[in-house]
Amino acid sequence: MDNRRPLIAGNWKMFKTCSEAVETAEHLVKLVSACADVDIMIAPPFTALAQVSEVVKGTCISLGAQNLFWETEGAYTGEISPAMLVSSGCRYVIIGHSERRQYFGETDESVNRKIRSAVSSGLVPVVCVGESEKQRELKETFSVLDKQVKKGLDNFSPGDLNTLVMAYEPIWAIGTGKTASAEQAQEVHEYLRAMIEKKFGNSLAKSMRILYGGSVKPDNIAELMSMADVDGALVGGASLDPLTFSKIVQF
Ligand code: PEP
Repeated sequence: MDNRRPLIAGNWKMFKTCSEAVETAEHLVKLVSACADVDIMIAPPFTALAQVSEVVKGTCISLGAQNLFWETEGAYTGEISPAMLVSSGCRYVIIGHSERRQYFGETDESVNRKIRSAVSSGLVPVVCVGESEKQRELKETFSVLDKQVKKGLDNFSPGDLNTLVMAYEPIWAIGTGKTASAEQAQEVHEYLRAMIEKKFGNSLAKSMRILYGGSVKPDNIAELMSMADVDGALVGGASLDPLTFSKIVQF
């Protein structure tokens, strides 16, 4: 491991009102106050960001958003700009989650634009890639990832990407209870790191954190984290309960 600090990130998706989000964050702060060896991020819905930001200020928990739009401002009803996220206290932003690709028309091209706008606003992009069950069955996993990474990271220099976090999230494992085995995750993470090395050089490949996401739970996190190229986890369902999430953080 090359000094890649583990990152455990919680994606709350479209769950929790403002008061529920604040309560969850307050509980989590108490549970993980002693976690010095791991970075922690939670991504509540947009509506709760500013309030949760007050709760996590000065703690070891950072705030993330689940999406952004690449323009700085304008007539884009319903969208949220990078500066709005920064002003709400966000440090991270999830980009290209499979649910956004599946239900909201997110493409590798939009992912690319979003990464650029996140980076230029000083946000840390957490970029999701991953294959469907059918693609895995057809042995297309690596070609799907090739395309997502090639197009998603097109036209960047290594320097642009030195904070970027990649998240390997096989779609068949998201919210299904089917976790990739630690070996399956390692195989893909190693492949992704080799791709980054080929495209951007050894230094970025060695420093880039690659998270695994897909039905991560307290009872499978330790084995996943024991793999050489697994640098953390992006957690959906199991991040909604502070006690469960704190157990994952304390893997
Ligand atoms: C996710 O939403 O990124 C995710 C991995 O969800 P879950 O942990 O519920 O599978």
